[in-house]
Amino acid sequence: MIFVKKALNTIVGKLLLLAFIALSFTALVRTTYSAIVWGNNTRQISELNQRSLHRAEVLVDYAVNTMADLEYGGLGVCDAQAIKTIQRISFLRGSIKDIQVLDAHNGLLCAGAPMNEELDIAKFDFSDMYAAAEENIFFHDISRNNSGLLGIARHVSDDQTFLAVLNLDTLLFDVFPKELRDHARADLVMGGNVEVASQIPDVVPHVEQQNFKEFITASDRYPLEVRFTVDEAMLSSWNSELARLIGDVSLVIGLIMGWIILVLLVRPLTLREEMSLALKNGEFVPFMQPTFDIAGRKIVGCEVLMRWKKPDGEIVAPYQFIPAAEENGLIIPMTRAVMVAALSQLGDYMGRDKNFKMAFNIVPVDLVSDQFEADLCEIVKQAGVASRQVVLEITERQEFPDQDIAIARIKQLREMGFRVALDDTGVGHNGLSNVQQLGADIIKIDKIFIDRVGVDNAATTIVQMLVKLAQELGMRTVAEGIETEEQLRVLAECEVDEGQGYLVSKPVPHDEFIKLLMDSQQVATNKVAA
Ligand code: C2E
Ligand code: CA
Ligand code: CA
Repeated sequence: MIFVKKALNTIVGKLLLLAFIALSFTALVRTTYSAIVWGNNTRQISELNQRSLHRAEVLVDYAVNTMADLEYGGLGVCDAQAIKTIQRISFLRGSIKDIQVLDAHNGLLCAGAPMNEELDIAKFDFSDMYAAAEENIFFHDISRNNSGLLGIARHVSDDQTFLAVLNLDTLLFDVFPKELRDHARADLVMGGNVEVASQIPDVVPHVEQQNFKEFITASDRYPLEVRFTVDEAMLSSWNSELARLIGDVSLVIGLIMGWIILVLLVRPLTLREEMSLALKNGEFVPFMQPTFDIAGRKIVGCEVLMRWKKPDGEIVAPYQFIPAAEENGLIIPMTRAVMVAALSQLGDYMGRDKNFKMAFNIVPVDLVSDQFEADLCEIVKQAGVASRQVVLEITERQEFPDQDIAIARIKQLREMGFRVALDDTGVGHNGLSNVQQLGADIIKIDKIFIDRVGVDNAATTIVQMLVKLAQELGMRTVAEGIETEEQLRVLAECEVDEGQGYLVSKPVPHDEFIKLLMDSQQVATNKVAA
């Protein structure tokens, strides 16, 4: 989870999230818009399809009703009056071209129109009959290549049939909206396979390359259906003039939404989250500052001082993160990590130089915690280092959660061979009472006193007093923050045992520290030789 949050806190992560939200939103809006357009378009074409069939049915109804009227009006007699009636009907009703009276063998008895090639019923194939729902009504294929002609027969008796000749060629004319006209065809189909009338685009599209949507409405009264075949691509782009605008607008809205989500949801990592991630990534590393013999300046050990080495190489000083780590409890695992690293870096050397001491800063809560002793023993054992080479610096600045436990713990640790140093001595709230009570091996004299040594007599006196106190309690002294030769001289006079400060070196990474060690040994060897 923290990893995701961390990734989202980078510029690239934010941009990616923004792009993702904006594009997803745009895609959603576009898809919705396309679905709405498609739904509307298919509904419109479907309605058109149904209306076309309805018109065909109405025209057929006309013919069927007209033949019924004629039957009752005595058309079967085929006299001059009857023929005149037919001619009048054909003239008045546009779709009815003619009505013929046929005998039992479909021979022509009489007709309204003078016989012509087109309507020569002898050429019709009466074997193809399609029954209507209504009794005695049959549909015949008398079309000539989609001519629109349709024969509707009414069996009046065993000897007589009326045949209405309908022309439906205008039924589907211009049926589609302008935009679809070149990409769609319409057919009036009889009996499922006979094309009676068709509307075919001028430019026939390449059928293989396109997907088509079919709309079919079949009559439940007559053997007729109207089929539309429409290019799907055209059907979906028809009526979608707003697509571009909607796409642009939704992209802008998506970007705004994404930005709002980023601002509201992607909070920067808390310091604790950042630190716990850094701990996992091994970003808390040990720096080492030499402690040296005041009299001879020979390096005799080091204090391990933690640094936060950011991935970009930035080195963060402890005052910027140690207080937070103490508050959120991460100081304990961070201390363990730094101990393991420092001991593995200098473990070999410490194996050779048994007098070398490595000091670690331990916060009071850690010291009194249940795990402390076990963890410490395990780490030291794994490193193969003797416990007497390990110094635990306990600060005077903070109060112990439980003084009694602290005293008992220190006692126990010393019995196990570890050295305990009282850090920042003199600046804590307990004054000097801690020195005796806690029972440490080393007193570290704080830099605030060393800074004024040689300048301010009071500071020198305090140092002398602390040295005396230490000597009486059988403890050693280490002066912190020595920056000048003058300070070093005064401290030597005060009989301080060891020192630490920029005069010899700042805290440095272990490889640099090893160089300092080697130089220091060289100087010592030379002195002995001289
Ligand atoms: P500290 O334990 O009193 O460590 C000594 C500080 O004095 C270090 O500061 C060191 O760099 C600085 N110092 C030493 N000699 C000189 C000098 O000649 N001149 C000046 N100006 N400064 C000098 P640093 O490394 O910044 O550490 C500050 C504090 O952070 C430490 O004070 C210690 O309380 C804490 N700290 C550092 N590392 C750890 C750690 O691993 N664990 C814990 N719990 N605390 C740590
Ligand atoms: Ca210290
Ligand atoms: Ca200190």
